[in-house]
Amino acid sequence: MSNNGHVQNTQPSLADTPLAERATTRPRVVVVGAGFGGLNVARKLGNKELDVLILDRNNYHGFWPLLYQVATAGLEPEAIASAVRSVIRDYNNIDFLMTEVKGVDFDARTVATSAGAVGYDYLVLAAGSANNYFGNDDLSKHTFGLKDLDDAEVLRNHVLRSFERAMCEQDDERRRSLMTFAVVGGGPTGVELAGAFEELIGHVLRKDYPALDTHEARVVLVEATDKILASFPQNLQRTAVKRLERMGVELMLKTAVAAVEHGHVQFKDGSSLAADTVVWAAGVRAAPIADQLGVEQGRGARVKIAPTLNLPNRPEVFVIGDMAYLEGYKPGVAYPMVAPVAIQMAQQAAANISAHLQGQPMRAFRYFDKGQMATIGRSSAVLDSFGIRMSGFIAWLGWLFVHLLYLVGFRNRLVVMLNWAYNYLTFDRSVRLITGNRDEDRQYKRDLETGNPLEEVALSANESTGSYR
Ligand SMILES: Cc1cc2nc3c(=O)[nH]c(=O)nc-3n(C[C@H](O)[C@H](O)[C@H](O)COP(=O)(O)OP(=O)(O)OC[C@H]3O[C@@H](n4cnc5c(N)ncnc54)[C@H](O)[C@@H]3O)c2cc1C
Repeated sequence: MSNNGHVQNTQPSLADTPLAERATTRPRVVVVGAGFGGLNVARKLGNKELDVLILDRNNYHGFWPLLYQVATAGLEPEAIASAVRSVIRDYNNIDFLMTEVKGVDFDARTVATSAGAVGYDYLVLAAGSANNYFGNDDLSKHTFGLKDLDDAEVLRNHVLRSFERAMCEQDDERRRSLMTFAVVGGGPTGVELAGAFEELIGHVLRKDYPALDTHEARVVLVEATDKILASFPQNLQRTAVKRLERMGVELMLKTAVAAVEHGHVQFKDGSSLAADTVVWAAGVRAAPIADQLGVEQGRGARVKIAPTLNLPNRPEVFVIGDMAYLEGYKPGVAYPMVAPVAIQMAQQAAANISAHLQGQPMRAFRYFDKGQMATIGRSSAVLDSFGIRMSGFIAWLGWLFVHLLYLVGFRNRLVVMLNWAYNYLTFDRSVRLITGNRDEDRQYKRDLETGNPLEEVALSANESTGSYR
């Protein structure tokens, strides 16, 4: 890739493939990403006089607001995702290719992918976001992220496996570390995850592991500022703090993480915490592909766009959703990285593509803000919408309703609703399988070879146990 975002011509060819044979002479809109933004652009252009090709590294559309429930064994991964091909099959002009997008040659109007170069007449970049480690990328090696289904499953397996390991751990400190779950970041994702961990441990794992003193288990929510849920009004922030504390979540406010290594969190004030599970929910930035485009980027590496959602001077290239940086939410503040912004940008981008094709002027993006909500464990949520600020059970019902409404597919809605009813009535969780064991064994052996001290202690302690009676 050259510095101006151009892709060198070393791409495999897609000529003579079934994909190329489907090409027509109609204008082709290539959409990068099948998330909230990408999928909605495609659907809005469905059955129109153009061809749409969606590119995504995964073959599914994920509903990330419920990802934390997959990570905490409340929902199975399939319940919050839909295969892209199943969503698009009712449209005669939308196709899909599962491939990694590597860059764009804006002058040649081609997208470089791991499958080959794909030409476009219009391009919509909607590749979403990635974790922001604020320049300390070592954090990514020793913390868990929560960005897609793989992340959520890896985290769920790790949490459940930590309890299994705790069962045969002789060393008290080590065992407590195995049962300590630190969530870094007091935004909605961190708060929802911390509440769900506490419920998983208190309602489910306490019964599953009668031999373990699960009262030793800790859920710690770490936040660098003095606030959690900073985007919510102050009274709702206070409600959330009280609710979390009542549930048993330990809050560490005004505490910034300096480093995380092998189950040890080092804070900038010199203190530390032994925790085998550290989840990073402290910051987001644009998907890494944004860095490969050679275009101007704003805060969080998001791509700067015109109010009509296209790149300045490139009316055929749109950037939407989490990847896009557009001020206007409040003076000097960019639209937030949330699903409603991505969906509404998708609708405007699709309308602007149609307008441009017909020689009509494109319209500037206008956001209709429906408010925000976050759930804090069972039966409780905070809601700030159209001037209504409330918390508690009614807010929680509102949260359930909105999430079911936006979930893609009737089957998923039904499965999620049944799971929620089951979890609510039985105080249980249906998904407690530990999978991915072969990968974990391989990683475990690698850790030993590279001298992970904590894992060595665990093994020697286990070995010295001799036999299990
Ligand atoms: C855990 C979590 C909880 C959230 N909770 C909420 C919430 O409660 N409410 C809310 O409004 N918002 C929430 N969000 C934010 C919301 O999900 C995003 O704002 C929204 O998904 C943005 O849509 P998008 O289309 O820009 O990106 P996404 O929906 O993330 O889609 C991006 C797509 O691009 C694909 N992709 C990325 N890079 C490449 C590449 N190089 N090649 C090929 N494909 C690529 C990805 O696989 C993905 O399918 C949450 C996000 C997360 C991660």
